[in-house]
Amino acid sequence: MDLGHRLVSEREAKVIICNTCTVKDTTEQKILHKIKEWGLQGREVIVTGCMPQVQLDEILENNPEVHVLGMNSLLKLGVILNRVHERLEGYSLRPMSVFEDSPEGLLNVPRKRFSPNIHICQISQGCNNRCSYCIVTLARGPLYSFDADSIVTDIEQAVYEGCSEVWLTSQDNAQYGMDKEIHLPALLERITAIPGDFRVRVGMMNPASTLGILDELLRAYSSEKVYKVLHLPIQSASDKILEKMRRKHTMEQANFIVEKFRNAFPESTLFTDIIVGFPGEDEEDFELTLDWIRTYHPDKVNISRYTPRPHTEALQFRNIDTRIVVERSGKLHRLCNQIKLGKKEDMVGREVEVFISQKAKVKGLMSRTDSYKPVVIPKAGELCPGQRCRVKIEEATPGYFIGHPV
Ligand code: SF4
Repeated sequence: MDLGHRLVSEREAKVIICNTCTVKDTTEQKILHKIKEWGLQGREVIVTGCMPQVQLDEILENNPEVHVLGMNSLLKLGVILNRVHERLEGYSLRPMSVFEDSPEGLLNVPRKRFSPNIHICQISQGCNNRCSYCIVTLARGPLYSFDADSIVTDIEQAVYEGCSEVWLTSQDNAQYGMDKEIHLPALLERITAIPGDFRVRVGMMNPASTLGILDELLRAYSSEKVYKVLHLPIQSASDKILEKMRRKHTMEQANFIVEKFRNAFPESTLFTDIIVGFPGEDEEDFELTLDWIRTYHPDKVNISRYTPRPHTEALQFRNIDTRIVVERSGKLHRLCNQIKLGKKEDMVGREVEVFISQKAKVKGLMSRTDSYKPVVIPKAGELCPGQRCRVKIEEATPGYFIGHPV
């Protein structure tokens, strides 16, 4: 759908499309501030994403002249842009709001890739869980898995267009297909059967939904086209806190998944997410989380300080002192960085096979090991995305490794 519009900088834009996120309070405040500022400047604003689904009143309080494009209404963007156009021509028309019930048909909409070689494919939307702190599930509704045929067509097209890396995303990839007759492992097998040199990165999978498909998932991961990376958000290593979070998994189950994954793929990468300072988290609970990090040495930990979100069950829980939360978050960051650094230094001097996924931001090419570790090749010669080569890791920087072809 080309309506003749151009992407320009925020400063030059006559129309601003603001894609919102409601996960964190700080992000929400920044977005509301921007929406208000654009309103005071008299600019046309279209607000979309999660916030209009659950916080429409706050948005309109800050700027009553915004147009609203609901989460499932992306295909109606053109209709809103027509209204915007008429208003810019001087017609006195009210702003528009469009909300559709289902995300059906959204998978194959044209999109602009942030990297020409990386394709992001959203395999499902929404979530069937009700974690007590989570507002996303309220914004996005229950699980809706996109049809497997449409996903395969979407990825075939991306590979045809030259993408060498495909990222599968959703609120919880392991829930894929639980509302249909297919599950993630079968989808992965269909994706990896697509001809061409490309790799698949499977995004976040919750422990509770991963457990039931684990054996089939490990089989599907054995394809050389799937990066051996497990993103398993544990959120806390205390069963007491997990229960308050209504996370539906225990630490015994999470550890079982990590161990089985590591037995199958010893070099694999582990990512996790942790919420620090959830209501009721005492020193003992926090120590359990630190111990888990010391034991399992995850390669990357996304750490969030707990902040209450509107409309959630945890909003009524008694929060712990902010100073304690800040202190715990600092301690956890320091431990994770120390572990990450140690693991990185162990890689220096090794020779590894890598897959070249895209041009590097600064110079040369960005490649990935089979376990998705980033290796920049500054002197890549004739190499190009989609090829494999062997490199010697010469250096570890905070964000990536530097390697030279051998
Ligand atoms: S698994 Fe929990 S945190 Fe994740 S989207 Fe579902 S309800 Fe929210």
